[in-house]
Amino acid sequence: MRKALASLAFPAPCRICARILDTGSTLPFCHACMYALEQTLREPLCAQCGRPIVSAAAAEGGSVPQCHLCRSQVYAFDFARSFGAYTPRMSRAILLLKYGNVAPLGAWFARRLAGLVQRQPGSFAADVVVPVPLDHGRMRGRGYNQAELIAKPMARLLGIPFRSYLLVRTRPRPNQLRLTRRERWETVRGAYATHKTAQVDKLRVILVDDVFTTGATLDACSRALKGAGAARVAGVTVARALPLSSAPDAGLPDQDFGE
Ligand SMILES: [Zn+2]
Ligand SMILES: [Zn+2]
Repeated sequence: MRKALASLAFPAPCRICARILDTGSTLPFCHACMYALEQTLREPLCAQCGRPIVSAAAAEGGSVPQCHLCRSQVYAFDFARSFGAYTPRMSRAILLLKYGNVAPLGAWFARRLAGLVQRQPGSFAADVVVPVPLDHGRMRGRGYNQAELIAKPMARLLGIPFRSYLLVRTRPRPNQLRLTRRERWETVRGAYATHKTAQVDKLRVILVDDVFTTGATLDACSRALKGAGAARVAGVTVARALPLSSAPDAGLPDQDFGE
């Protein structure tokens, strides 16, 4: 009976795997896909950037686990965490947020990220929440910024002021969808700036984005904020790209539109 009602409410198939919907959830996803999306990253994580640490030696060495990038102080942000792994299902869900017009998805992700922030209040202590901005062309084409769709309800849940105008993207992202690691770093270097009217001095900022791929985007945004005097920058993203060997949930075609 419940199934019948649910399928009446959502006659369309699961927007991730195309199976017939078996749930009355507010999101058009089946049980299996919802379950997969709810899986959080496994510890141990790098104390600074939140990258899952796979090597036992790195996890055991020292009291605070740190990845090789953070040991060499690559990133300008102080702290970063992601909700889940960038699995094929997660990548579909994020695509639906970007292009699929699934309205409740931004709020659903926002609740997950707000929970993540609340579990580590010291590391995420902040005065403002700022979404990673799109360039003007993309913003015009799409009409909204997916990071903003997550960051705005997240800020409301946390009771922290939302400031989308603090950061601007001054150089557009190239149109090519797949970028190598090196290209990701090169295309975002110096691509962000604080808005000329923005008061950033001594601010503690939570930066919000959809995917942490190499960390280059959060790094470039953090450099702009810190260059303008920000005291602290902590990044939070829905998903984290992992090395293929450690990524669960294979079997669905992957599409990489991140960063
Ligand atoms: Zn599904
Ligand atoms: Zn790290």
